[in-house]
Amino acid sequence: MAVPLLDLTRQYAYLKPELDKAVLAVLTHGKFILGPEVTRFENETAAYCKTKYALGVASGTDALLIALHACGVGPGDEVITSNFSFFASAGVVNRLGATPVFVDIDPASFNIDPSAIEAAITPKTKAIMPVHLFGQMADMDPIMAIARKHKVRVVEDAAQSIGSEYKGRPAGSIGDLGCFSFFPSKNLGAGGDGGLITTDDEGLYNLCKILREHGQQPQYYHRIVGYNSRLDTLQAAILAVKLPHLRKWSEKRIAHADRYDREFAGVKGLTTPTRMPYTTFHIYNQYTLASPKRDATVAGLRQAGIGCAIYYPVPFHKQDCFAYLGYKSGQFPHSTKAGAEVFSIPVYPEMTDAEQTEVIAVVKGLCS
Ligand SMILES: *Cc1c(COP(=O)(O)O)cnc(C)c1O
Repeated sequence: MAVPLLDLTRQYAYLKPELDKAVLAVLTHGKFILGPEVTRFENETAAYCKTKYALGVASGTDALLIALHACGVGPGDEVITSNFSFFASAGVVNRLGATPVFVDIDPASFNIDPSAIEAAITPKTKAIMPVHLFGQMADMDPIMAIARKHKVRVVEDAAQSIGSEYKGRPAGSIGDLGCFSFFPSKNLGAGGDGGLITTDDEGLYNLCKILREHGQQPQYYHRIVGYNSRLDTLQAAILAVKLPHLRKWSEKRIAHADRYDREFAGVKGLTTPTRMPYTTFHIYNQYTLASPKRDATVAGLRQAGIGCAIYYPVPFHKQDCFAYLGYKSGQFPHSTKAGAEVFSIPVYPEMTDAEQTEVIAVVKGLCS
């Protein structure tokens, strides 16, 4: 039996009447840019993330770009981030004319190692951008302590972690700003691209809002140059239908992860993902295993029709576009090892028990 890594058609089948109605309502009222659904979704997401403000933007990448811009990041500045993430976490720093500074991961969580951050701080550091990878938050308490001590901003890349919790506090509610993505494969996925910024800081919120629309305030008057980056009304309408289901969907992912953890506990050479003691809610955007025989395992999974993916094979310091930063390939041993050993298997909420049984049997067969 083939099992896909993700099957979005099942979510649509489950919500079809509501989604169709919401999309048709937007097509009918015609307020396609910043229509009423956007404000409604922003308010509901702010409540979900326990922040004062939420601002819809065009993508998760744009959320990071605008958030860092609002923190004053520009040419000559440095932003510290994890060496092991989706490309956007480093790309946005470069696009603002600033220098990304990479820090290795804690191999247990795959997230930035707080104990290595302080050594990376310089007088040019403007912000620290931890990434909450695979649905589990970075260790925020020490990160916030370092940031406050050195008076730098913290932008959470929470693209993979909407609704996850660190000591009971939701992603996006701890740093100065939180950034989310509604790329279809995230736990809360749009029918296309979408993103959102959260914050408790009114000044940062207002600045992000101005940046979202070309930096204008009032309309047609520009003191700063901004972006064209709004969350489409159509996307907001779709997301507002899905948001009330998000917690339940994440709980189903946890149930799948629990079963995998039990089944894979005794398998030699296979490392299951660690749930950190500080994690009070892990949303398992990905269920990511590690094995020294990763490439053979992935080839076997593909042959058996089991969806799988490698997130991410190449750490930032080895990307050609960052060669100018002068890192040595032997630096960052933990992210290098993760890049060579990780692979992710299906964990989406609609996966059936029979499908999961199949995934487990194939993985065990390949690893024993
Ligand atoms: C998906 C993702 C992004 C970018 O989001 P887009 O909506 O695709 O632009 C940024 N950072 C991380 C960690 C992501 O997983």
